[in-house]
Amino acid sequence: MPGEIFEFSWFRNRDGHCVVAMAADDETAALSGCEPAPPGTMQRFISVNVDPAAGIGDIEQYNPLKQHKCLFRSFAEAETSEEGILAFADTYGMLGLDRENADPNSPPLLCTLEPLEVWHREIRSISKALRLWDMVQAEDAHGLTTRLSPIISWVDADIKGGSVRNLPDPAASFPDFEPDDLRWFRTHPEVIDYYRAGDLVVPAKMWVQAITNRHLESRISPRILWDDSVRKRWSLYFTPVNLIGAIWLQFAQSVTQEKDYRRCRQCESWFEIDHYTARTNRYFCSNACRSKAYRDRQTRARNLYSQGMSLAEIADELGSDKTTIEGWVDGMA
Ligand SMILES: [Zn+2]
Repeated sequence: MPGEIFEFSWFRNRDGHCVVAMAADDETAALSGCEPAPPGTMQRFISVNVDPAAGIGDIEQYNPLKQHKCLFRSFAEAETSEEGILAFADTYGMLGLDRENADPNSPPLLCTLEPLEVWHREIRSISKALRLWDMVQAEDAHGLTTRLSPIISWVDADIKGGSVRNLPDPAASFPDFEPDDLRWFRTHPEVIDYYRAGDLVVPAKMWVQAITNRHLESRISPRILWDDSVRKRWSLYFTPVNLIGAIWLQFAQSVTQEKDYRRCRQCESWFEIDHYTARTNRYFCSNACRSKAYRDRQTRARNLYSQGMSLAEIADELGSDKTTIEGWVDGMA
């Protein structure tokens, strides 16, 4: 089926990652997609840990999109501190920025050096797009008005040559507002027309679309691939060239398919809600988490019982019923 993601596999370094500071030369800057810094300036990079004796060590191959249905949410929520970014890299690997500009016939095997600046920019962009999308999904008119109105009225006044000095800075209403966004609003007067007509949902959707397309650019490649397992024929697929492309593609899929997500009550990770999922599984990401939550409740009930709480009180406390609690504490002295 077109639009399907085909077997994207990625690499992570089991020896972890670190932050290094170095003077970036033009070649590193060009490969990693950041602005060339003035000569002599130190820049901070995420690097894979390399054992000087053994070289690059333990590389694990895995399938991020199959294993993590909400990878884009985890990335959007990644802490932008150096520790937060290192934790993400240790779990999922590097973003693969140098593959965007690499020779397609001999891409680098392992991406070893990526500017922190680009990591920050990507996290900011996806969390901005996700916040907008969540507001649209939740029909949060108040949120959309608070965040979008100041930006659009600013651009509107600016285009018409009015005074913008008395208007609030557009970046103040929307955290992570970037110069690219301003350029985009300026070149899309139809967004302002929708706004004047009292519609903020369409401008928000158009903005999400623009941000997403900007970040998919040069990171997704169409391929025909032979499907040997089921269909025994060629199909057309979108394949990410790197992890950051896979993350944006997963976000794009989620937006176009209007998927729902929920936070697991046990481990707090995000999971996708399939509308056909049995109702019992709707609060937990996995059977393991569901069983763990069940065992935790039992333990809690037994503890409360041994502290002298009555069955009715425990049932009340745990939002359960007396018979269930009685079964759990049965046989306790
Ligand atoms: Zn869980």
